[in-house]
Amino acid sequence: MKPINHHLNDTLLMGYATGNLPEAFNLVVATHISLCDECRARMHSFDAIGGALVDRAESAVLDKGSLAATMALIADDTWQAPVMEHPAQPGVFPAPLRDYAGGDLDNVKWRRVGGGVSQAILKTSGKATVRLLKIPGGVAVPDHGHSGMELTLVLQGAFRDETDRFGAGDIEVADDDMVHTPVAEPGQDCICLAATDAPLRFSGFLPRMAQKVMRI
Ligand code: ZN
Ligand code: ZN
Repeated sequence: MKPINHHLNDTLLMGYATGNLPEAFNLVVATHISLCDECRARMHSFDAIGGALVDRAESAVLDKGSLAATMALIADDTWQAPVMEHPAQPGVFPAPLRDYAGGDLDNVKWRRVGGGVSQAILKTSGKATVRLLKIPGGVAVPDHGHSGMELTLVLQGAFRDETDRFGAGDIEVADDDMVHTPVAEPGQDCICLAATDAPLRFSGFLPRMAQKVMRI
């Protein structure tokens, strides 16, 4: 794999390490971590801090402020972030994703959602949803804003939007402020794993119609 340029932020890594993310986001984070040495190392450091804080909390009075905020994140101390150090396997999907997708790229049951784009929604609990997206080379996903957070991990091919280029292994974190039009690079289909915690807000009328069909 080529070098990864776009990584998870600390909030997401800490949320993952402390078990505070919805299942849909856990899957995207776990899949990126399985591909990315840098984020895996940072996640383990949060894991260690979390463990140390839980130990100290039992014997010491905590200051209010940042430590308390951190402690609030460590609500679920039974959670242990899975260790993702799988050897590289043939195929497109890293191990954490294979379990959800029931195999590799060839096993995905795609549904067309218009404009040449296909998707497959993966089963997870909670309000956040996660889907695989297949965008043919040169095709754009309609421009849209976000009412929550959107995490998009590229598994194959690449896309560009107003911010940068995202290739295999890269993850884009989009929030409320961002409106963008991702376009797949010409050539190979772009395969992404995308999690959202709220419906996307599309700018035009037709995309809003498509949104009903796509359930995004
Ligand atoms: Zn990373
Ligand atoms: Zn988006």
